[in-house]
Amino acid sequence: MRLILMGPPGAGKGTQATRISERYGIPAISTGDIFRANVAAGTPLGVAAQTYMDAGEYVPDEVTNAMVRDRLAHPDCQRGFLLDGYPRTLEQVKELDQMLADLGTQLDGVLVLSVDAGVLVERLLDRAATEARADDTRNVIGRRQQVYEEQTAPLVSEYDARGILAHIDGFGRIDHVTDRVYTAISRLSSVPDRTGRLAPPARR
Ligand code: ADP
Repeated sequence: MRLILMGPPGAGKGTQATRISERYGIPAISTGDIFRANVAAGTPLGVAAQTYMDAGEYVPDEVTNAMVRDRLAHPDCQRGFLLDGYPRTLEQVKELDQMLADLGTQLDGVLVLSVDAGVLVERLLDRAATEARADDTRNVIGRRQQVYEEQTAPLVSEYDARGILAHIDGFGRIDHVTDRVYTAISRLSSVPDRTGRLAPPARR
């Protein structure tokens, strides 16, 4: 199963990604987490990414694309994967298409988590209090939302045109959102989950 999880900052992608990963036995690949780990370890990749991240801007496509290409070549991706936070630009969509073609595979679905903008800011400011992420300040949150609207929201119609998009209401209790996510995946995919249940064939 090869999935993309999209949604604005604070939509709850990371939380749902962990659950999807466990249920379907596929790695959840978060470009944000990989960047943060590299920043913390002081690697050249982290040094290249940090200024952009702290300002709420996207890391340049060539840096991000190379990192994802490398990650998708790992053996744990052979059975599938969930991409959290990638692609975020139309250029990254093109590059991902090429990576998947090179691997002889294709996407099963794109999940879009949506949540009201006001709720998003509250969630991120709450998270700032516990996780101390450098980009969870009110100013940077505003910029991240703007960059998402400008650069990433257009990807929704791109994937919708391909017939592999599922909208998910990200508002409400985490467990309820997870139920909606599983339902959406079962509609998109004919791959069994770890419970052995076989979902109906995709409507493509
Ligand atoms: P959020 O979705 O809450 O903004 P992430 O952890 O997914 O948080 O991403 C944090 C930051 O990492 C982004 O603001 C950006 O600077 C960088 N980043 C993550 N994914 C990408 C990507 N696909 N392209 C460019 N930059 C990215």
